[in-house]
Amino acid sequence: MYYNDFQDLKLSALGMGNMRLPVLDDEKHSIDEETTARMLDYCLKNGINYFDTAWPYHDGNSEIVVGNILSNYPRDSFYLATKFPTFDKSYFTRQEEVFEKQLSKCKVDYFDFYLLHNVSGHNINYFMDPELGGKVIDYLLKQKEAGRIRHFGFSTHASSEDFVKFLDTYGQYMEFCQIQLNWFDWEYQDAKFKVDELNKRGIPIWVMEPVRGGKLINYTQPYIDELKALRPNDEITDWCFKFLRTVPGVTMILSGMSNENQLHQNVETFKERDVLTEDEVKFLFGIKDKILAAKMIPCTACRYCTDTCPQQLDIPKMIEIYNDDVIAEYAFSTPNAIQRLGEGKGPTDCIQCRQCESQCPQNIAIPDVLEMLAQRAADNPFAKRPVR
Ligand code: SF4
Ligand code: SF4
Repeated sequence: MYYNDFQDLKLSALGMGNMRLPVLDDEKHSIDEETTARMLDYCLKNGINYFDTAWPYHDGNSEIVVGNILSNYPRDSFYLATKFPTFDKSYFTRQEEVFEKQLSKCKVDYFDFYLLHNVSGHNINYFMDPELGGKVIDYLLKQKEAGRIRHFGFSTHASSEDFVKFLDTYGQYMEFCQIQLNWFDWEYQDAKFKVDELNKRGIPIWVMEPVRGGKLINYTQPYIDELKALRPNDEITDWCFKFLRTVPGVTMILSGMSNENQLHQNVETFKERDVLTEDEVKFLFGIKDKILAAKMIPCTACRYCTDTCPQQLDIPKMIEIYNDDVIAEYAFSTPNAIQRLGEGKGPTDCIQCRQCESQCPQNIAIPDVLEMLAQRAADNPFAKRPVR
């Protein structure tokens, strides 16, 4: 394992993400504690010293199981990170209750790293409200002063605009920032912009979704022979990690490992700092373009269709949401993105009059796409979140 410096700490370059732990009977809340204990032990014996969990992972059970297992090891042999839940407004007035409960669930009296969980379009207005987000951050900074939080930061899936808004308001308190970063999202989700912004502000980068929840393994199957010809010994996960090592500011790479094989392979990959060459990075970006072209509805956002719509629907925005949802194979952000379209402006409000279609220079079957989006929204597994 190689290590990166963060202030006076040496953090393992690979961190154990505890959001996709092995489960029993295919039930998310039912963590396989025996296998998880073996995995965390393997982490500690092989140099991984950073463990990331959060309030909602495994319906609230990740904090409990991880805390329980780690309590068998000396407190100074691991760094534990968890996050303040922000997906429900009610948490913004329950900061003390939530924080105390997290310490108790994790069986610790301080967190090494504590993050605001997923600053996004859904909650940016709460954060901008001094009576909600302002009070939460005041409270957490007081916990830091008291030594109950050692390092304070945030994770985010925000748009570039909301990301900057948050940093302009609270950036001076943020010691690190966790973003979705991988070669596929570098341009597609504007991860490059966030990397540049964080480097400009001197905030170290924590990476989540380095393999896009494993989906990059599936996406790259048609290109596997070409990748193998370039790097015969590397799997796609090796390509993903080696890309991230080329990105300035990256200090921690979190991987949500869900079985022992994955963990053992990842530990192997992190024995050395091998990186991709510039040409290999370009090659990956070329694959990304081909994947997007094959999967996405080719809307150019010209908006010729919107004037004709009797329902005044924001058609290109809905196609954008649809594309993101298809690429993610159900996106976390879809339910909120649809809600933000407003009352009477969602995909189910299309009356299938088909007046828009003749306006579209890309010949997109717009009402069919909206129908598919409505169906995907109904099936979205993130639509209902646990509230505790
Ligand atoms: S088919 Fe739907 S999206 Fe197209 S114009 Fe009619 S209501 Fe609007
Ligand atoms: S006319 Fe076609 S390409 Fe243009 S915004 Fe509408 S759906 Fe997209």
